[in-house]
Amino acid sequence: MSESPLSRYEIVIGLEVHAQLRTESKLFSPAPVSFGDDPNHNVEPVCLALPGVLPVLNRRAVECAIIAGLATHCTVHTRSVFARKHYFYPDLPKGYQISQYEHPIATGGWIDIQLDGDIKGATKRIGLTRIHMEEDAGKSIHDDAVAGSDATLVDLNRAGVPLVEIVSEPDLRTPAEAGAYLRTLRSILRYIDVSDADMEKGNFRCDANVSLRPSGREEFGTRTELKNLNSFRFVEAAILAEARRQAEILADGGEIQQATMAYDAATDRTRVLRLKEDAHDYRYFPDPDLIPLEVDAGEIEVLRKGLPEFADEKCRRFQTQYGLSEYDALQLSEDRVLGEFFEAVVENHGTAKTVANWVLRDVLKALGELQLEIADAKLTPEAFAQLLELVDSGKTTAKSAQGLVSELVRDGGNPAALVSERGLEAVSDAGVLSAAVDEVLAEHPENIEKYRAGETKVLNFLMGQVMRRTEGKAEPNAVRELLAERLKV
Ligand code: ADP
Ligand code: MG
Repeated sequence: MSESPLSRYEIVIGLEVHAQLRTESKLFSPAPVSFGDDPNHNVEPVCLALPGVLPVLNRRAVECAIIAGLATHCTVHTRSVFARKHYFYPDLPKGYQISQYEHPIATGGWIDIQLDGDIKGATKRIGLTRIHMEEDAGKSIHDDAVAGSDATLVDLNRAGVPLVEIVSEPDLRTPAEAGAYLRTLRSILRYIDVSDADMEKGNFRCDANVSLRPSGREEFGTRTELKNLNSFRFVEAAILAEARRQAEILADGGEIQQATMAYDAATDRTRVLRLKEDAHDYRYFPDPDLIPLEVDAGEIEVLRKGLPEFADEKCRRFQTQYGLSEYDALQLSEDRVLGEFFEAVVENHGTAKTVANWVLRDVLKALGELQLEIADAKLTPEAFAQLLELVDSGKTTAKSAQGLVSELVRDGGNPAALVSERGLEAVSDAGVLSAAVDEVLAEHPENIEKYRAGETKVLNFLMGQVMRRTEGKAEPNAVRELLAERLKV
C-alpha cells in the first residue's frame, strides 16, 4: 500500500471566528436580540433598511468588543471605522453589511493553547491578526418542510445582531490544534462574559482557511476557506478532509484554486461552493451614515482593570491556595461559574479537597444527568456547604447526601430539612448497628477467618454489607469500630 499523499505536507490553518456579543439590542438598532423567537419579530425599521432610517451604534457592543480585545492581548484602538461591505443576498435588505475593515477595533493579539490536551502538555502561542465588529445578516430558510419545496423564506431576527470577527494568524498546524484554539477562545469569551459562545445556537461560528506546503518549505500554499462549520467535531474533520483533497490534487501535479468550500459530514468530503471572491469585489468604503468610532483611552483602561482572573491563572492559584492537584484545579477552573461555585462552598465549609471531590464527582454528575449548566443550578454554595457539614458531623452519611445532590441541583432546598423529612439521619444507635453487624458476620463467617489471617481488606467488604443492610444510613465510624471489635482475636 502506498502512503497517503498528505504525509508529505504540512497543514497550515488560520481560523475566522464569528462570536455574537451579549447585548440586549442589535448593533445599530433598538430591536431586541434573542434566540428562538418567532421569525421576523425582532425587527425595527433599521433592520429592514426602510428609507430614511439611520444606524445608532450600541455602546455595550463596543464595550464587549474592547473587552474581547483586551482579554486576547490585542492593541485596542481609540479610533476605528465602520465600512460597508456590499453583496447581494435576500437576507441582507440593505445590500451591504456594516463591518469594520481597514480600521478594526483591535489588532495584534494572541492566545495560548494547550497542545495534545495533556494537562502537563506544552502550550503554543497563536497570533490574532485582528478583531473587528460587524453586524450579522438574516437567515434564509431553504428547508422544504418549513418553506415548501422550491421556496426560500427569510427571517430577519438575526439581521443586525452584533458580532466580533476574530481572525487568527495562520499559526495552526493540525486539526487538533484548531480544535484546541476554538475551545480556548470559547472559554475566554465566556470568562469575560461578552458572548455565550455557543456553537449550537449559532452564536460562535467558525470558518477555517486551509493550505498545504511540502514539509520543510517556508512559503505558504494557496488556501481555501471552509464555511460555516457548526460543531467542534466538524471543524477538525472538515480540515482533515480538505487537507486530504488538496494533497491528492498536489500529488497529481495539480494546483489548488482559491475557493470557498463546504464540508459534507455524511461523506466526510469537502466540495467547492464558489471560487473565492477578493476584497475589492465587495466595494468596501467607510459608511457615511456612521462617524468614526472614537473611544477614550481612559475608558479602555477602566475596562482593562475590570478583566477577571482567567482560567490558567485560576488553575495555578487553586493549586497553591487550596493544595488541589493539577487535574482537579484544571477541571474546576475551566468554567468560571463552576470555579466561583467551588470557592463559595469552600468559604462556607473550609476543607477544599473535600469540596473539590464533591463538586467534581457529584455536582458535575448531577448536571450531566439533568443536562444543566452550573449557572442554571438551584443548588446554592451555602446549601451545598451545609450538606457537606451534615456528612462531616455524622448527622447523615455520605451515601445519603450523595442521593440528594441531583434533587438539590434541580430544585434547590434546605439539606438539613430534606435529611429529616426523608429520615436520612445517620444511624449511630449502638443497638441497631450491633444487630446489623452480627447479622453480616453470621452470613459471611469466612471473612472473619480471612481478616484474622491478615487479609484486612475484607473489612471494606463487611462495611459495605452493613451499609447495605441499613440502606446506607449507618454512621461509618461507628460501624468500623464495631466491626474492628468483633473481628479482634
Ligand atoms: P478573508 O476576508 O479572505 O476571509 P481574512 O483576512 O478575514 O480574509 O482571513 C484570512 C484568514 O486566512 C486568516 O485566518 C489567515 O490566518 C488565514 N490564512 C491566510 N493565508 C493562509 C494560508 N496560506 N493558509 C492557511 N490559512 C491562511
Ligand atoms: Mg474574513
